Amino acid sequence: MKITILGNSGPYPRAGSACSGYLLEDEEIKILIDCGNGILSRLLGQINSLEELDTIILTHLHSDHISDIMIMRYALGINQAKGKIKKSIPLYAPQDPLETYNKIQYKDAFILNELNERTLLNIGDMRITFEEMSHPVKTFAVIVEKNNKKFVYTSDTKYCNNLAKIAKDADVLLCECNIMEEDLTEDVYHLSTKQVGELSTSLGVKKLLLTHIWPEYDLSSILNEVKTYYPGDVEIAAEFKTYEID
Ligand SMILES: [Zn+2]
Ligand SMILES: [Zn+2]
Repeated sequence: MKITILGNSGPYPRAGSACSGYLLEDEEIKILIDCGNGILSRLLGQINSLEELDTIILTHLHSDHISDIMIMRYALGINQAKGKIKKSIPLYAPQDPLETYNKIQYKDAFILNELNERTLLNIGDMRITFEEMSHPVKTFAVIVEKNNKKFVYTSDTKYCNNLAKIAKDADVLLCECNIMEEDLTEDVYHLSTKQVGELSTSLGVKKLLLTHIWPEYDLSSILNEVKTYYPGDVEIAAEFKTYEID
């Protein structure tokens, strides 16, 4: 398995950056996880056709995770009508808010499915499950397992007990790290540098990738603060970089 980082900012990008979007691949299988602003053009630089996507997972319906879906649907729907694209792409998303979920479809662009805590996807040799996080709308972390290897993406969340449940012994944890510890307040629904570092240390995370970073921060400040709490292998999830999960 491997994961390519298409964007690492949130909830809006720094100049030249993009918000949430990650391409998960295993052999011929391609799964897009989140599709925020700036992701579609970067995705098209990685694949030859949108038809190559086996599945799209939207972890929650905040705009920085879904806005380019509203554009991708035109590429799919219009090219389906022209006969250039022959399939609809399966898409999983929480129905919260329902009004936003109902706006996703355009012509036959997608095969829409509700994403919830019972969703289980067996795609190729990958087993993909979901755990609810703590965020203002229904949000799911993604857990991908194959041959005793585990990749976990937290999506957006404040600190919650389910993090320990999903991230234990993760081979790669792609973790939101939106805020410096000194800026963390009770009303922030994201993880701080200290929380991410301490959590990863206590859970035995083998490789930590930091994403969804507030665009006004200096990236090295975020990384260095996490390093004070986590002595392991950690880096900022670099845009366009592919990380092997093996
Ligand atoms: Zn976000
Ligand atoms: Zn969010």
